[in-house]
Amino acid sequence: MDMRHSQPRRPTFPQQLQALIEPFPVLAGSLVKQYVSCGKAGCRCQRGQKHGPLYYLYWKERGRSRSLYVPREKVAEVRRQVQNYRRFQRELARQVRRQLREWQRNFQEEHRR
Ligand SMILES: [Zn+2]
Repeated sequence: MDMRHSQPRRPTFPQQLQALIEPFPVLAGSLVKQYVSCGKAGCRCQRGQKHGPLYYLYWKERGRSRSLYVPREKVAEVRRQVQNYRRFQRELARQVRRQLREWQRNFQEEHRR
């Protein structure tokens, strides 16, 4: 019997790193669609016809909310990178759980001896 195929396959360290950085580039924030008033007197936005949609990237920095205007032609790319960040977080969480399970098995096996 070939033991290589009977064991659950554990990714090597380079494979783990590859899976972790695979989603890059990433953007840690949320893309928000907004309709805004410009504040100019007599503008149509004063009568309820607001400008937009305009897109902003929001993120937190040291507890402070920050934002950045995203030009229309960059929206798709920014959206993709925001989604990439979620993939990165999921993969990181998966690897952290796997690591905990390995230590768990480690200690349980030692305990049995
Ligand atoms: Zn206006």
